[in-house]
Amino acid sequence: MGKLTSPGYVSRLLAGHGIRLKKKWGQNFLVDENIVDKIMAAADIDNSESVVEIGPGIGALTVQLAKRAGKVIAVEIDARLISVLKETLAEYANVEVIHSDAMDIDYEELSAGGTLKLVANLPYNVATPLLYRFLKQYRDIFSVLVCMVQKEVAERMVALPGGRDYGTLSVLCSYAAQTEMLFNVPGTVFFPRPDVASAVVRLRPDRPVLVPGSEDAFFSVVESVFSQRRKTILNTLHATFGLSKEELLNLGGIAGIDMARRGETLSVPEFAKLTHLIYNILSDR
Ligand code: SAM
Repeated sequence: MGKLTSPGYVSRLLAGHGIRLKKKWGQNFLVDENIVDKIMAAADIDNSESVVEIGPGIGALTVQLAKRAGKVIAVEIDARLISVLKETLAEYANVEVIHSDAMDIDYEELSAGGTLKLVANLPYNVATPLLYRFLKQYRDIFSVLVCMVQKEVAERMVALPGGRDYGTLSVLCSYAAQTEMLFNVPGTVFFPRPDVASAVVRLRPDRPVLVPGSEDAFFSVVESVFSQRRKTILNTLHATFGLSKEELLNLGGIAGIDMARRGETLSVPEFAKLTHLIYNILSDR
């Protein structure tokens, strides 16, 4: 795999282009072949597939994706790295580099009617908003997402009801995809070294739709409940949706959910049941 995972080479390459890395864009590059190999194994790509990579950096993952996939589309925000990528990806005709903020891309348009795999060491500054986008807006076009994120984000993604890490992101991941924590990645495998550890998570967005046509309603219930974690769901839902406590207790009886519980203990099917019942009452008003 060679040069792109050698810290000395990376340092000289960046110096040669006069680049000082920017923290705000999470510019910590992977310099460990073993981790690159593990990410490739997790993504299991063949040459009939198109892959999107967010934040290719200098191309350590991109080169390996290009060797396996039919096509790679790499989206990089930093114009200075676009010139580096021209050099490091020169021999790979199947890579298209797009100079853009990944938040501004229309992934449906990129998919051109097909499906895409997503493989990325996600920039920490936009990792969570991008995951929301991929799982809410674009999950039909991604067959698999293999993402490196900060360890604490990965822990929130796979958290189960009742725990400290369980929140809106956990509900979204569990609602939209089969989500697996694959392995941890220590700070020592990056150049420069970040202060935090990372982890690689794989998502397969193939879940049946639990709340057809009312996904926005579902997430408004989830968000309202997690905005006041310490309160009972009775008090939170009363304050947010203006239903009387009597109506809510009655609804809890139908759903088989004790309204004295805290929201952080609710499972995804329980959130779906509550959404259904709350919006039934609201739509009759
Ligand atoms: N993929 C490379 C690797 O693993 O070595 C680099 C990963 S580095 C953690 C994140 C990369 O994302 C950087 O190249 C950074 O410039 C880029 N980036 C940061 N914010 C971005 C955004 N909003 N859209 C696209 N790229 C972004």
